[in-house]
Amino acid sequence: MLIKLHDLYFKPFISEKEIGTIVKNMVDAIAEDLGDEMPVFVGVLNGSFMFVSDFVKKYPKSCEVTFIKLASYEGVKSTEDIQRLIGLTQDLTDRTVVVLEDIIDSGNTLEEVHRIFRNENVKNLIIATLFYKPEAYAKDFKLHYVGKEIPNKFIVGYGLDYNGLGRDLPAIYQLKTTQYMINIVLFGPPGAGKGTQAEFLKEKYDLVHISTGDVFRCNIKNETALGMLAKSYMDKGALVPDQVTIDMLNKEVEKNTDANGFIFDGFPRTDAQAKALDNLMDSKDSQINAMVALEVDDEVLVQRLLKRGETSGRADDADEGIIRNRIKEYYNKTAILKDYYSEQNKYFGVDGVGSIEAITERLSNVLDKL
Ligand code: AMP
Repeated sequence: MLIKLHDLYFKPFISEKEIGTIVKNMVDAIAEDLGDEMPVFVGVLNGSFMFVSDFVKKYPKSCEVTFIKLASYEGVKSTEDIQRLIGLTQDLTDRTVVVLEDIIDSGNTLEEVHRIFRNENVKNLIIATLFYKPEAYAKDFKLHYVGKEIPNKFIVGYGLDYNGLGRDLPAIYQLKTTQYMINIVLFGPPGAGKGTQAEFLKEKYDLVHISTGDVFRCNIKNETALGMLAKSYMDKGALVPDQVTIDMLNKEVEKNTDANGFIFDGFPRTDAQAKALDNLMDSKDSQINAMVALEVDDEVLVQRLLKRGETSGRADDADEGIIRNRIKEYYNKTAILKDYYSEQNKYFGVDGVGSIEAITERLSNVLDKL
């Protein structure tokens, strides 16, 4: 799940469990290398407090722990200016010192740490960092122990903050750089008015409307291979095979890299399509926020579609048998999606009978709350 701190969104990056494993591996390596030497662990505050706490709890032998406090962050960028707020408060002459850092990126903080120890006459100065960003590191100081190398993206949690927030999180989250999208599945049986409503909603919320039915019809009109394949199914009122539809949808989404979000109309229609859509959204650091369903009685639908068939030129609107088959297909195959999204508390039913404006308003009420 995404979390929001101040104005930014962050996504899960390193789980609590994985952090536990990384810390344990560092403890094992350091304990083995130090042997019988009694170390002084020096945590660099504030960020390292959770790491130091977990580290020394796991450390198998006796040790001392102390802290220095530096401030190096201004928002999400590492600043040049490191402030020394609390320096060393005890004599470390001839001691083996292990500096425990939560993260090393530019190396500026580490430079200040070295400055602090320059005149201390310690026996050994060992640097151990939980996380390390090799792409950002611009110094030459040796890093003796690195828990995990990570890409040069801003992270929070497990002691690390964004302007004061996020230190308390037990896992690590990474800044989500793509903007926040709102993605809606507009749902309802054929003739429920999805296409009409989508036109209003896409204007109002600045979303990209993708109707798989429309894309197929466009392909049929242009006599593409995809169109020819789809036509054989569509003319009978049957569903086009999943893989064909999913591939096509992925392509449509990829065409709109900077969309604020999507209205999916006529997709997903099967469980496999719903899962494929979740994966696609996931790959965009995003998610489906809601399935909004227009609920309309069957007999009303048949009458509406027959009326539309008088002018739409759609073969599948002209015949009552085909229309009833499409409605049947909808309930047979598609109604399970109501359960799929209900389980995630993302299903919103809206009464689809009434004036176009009234229904738009009902839909807007749902979207405004997302
Ligand atoms: P529609 O315009 O949404 O009523 O779709 C018209 C026809 O296109 C359907 O009856 C199916 O044959 C095909 N179709 C549209 N969307 C899908 C989908 N997600 N999966 C399979 N077939 C679809």
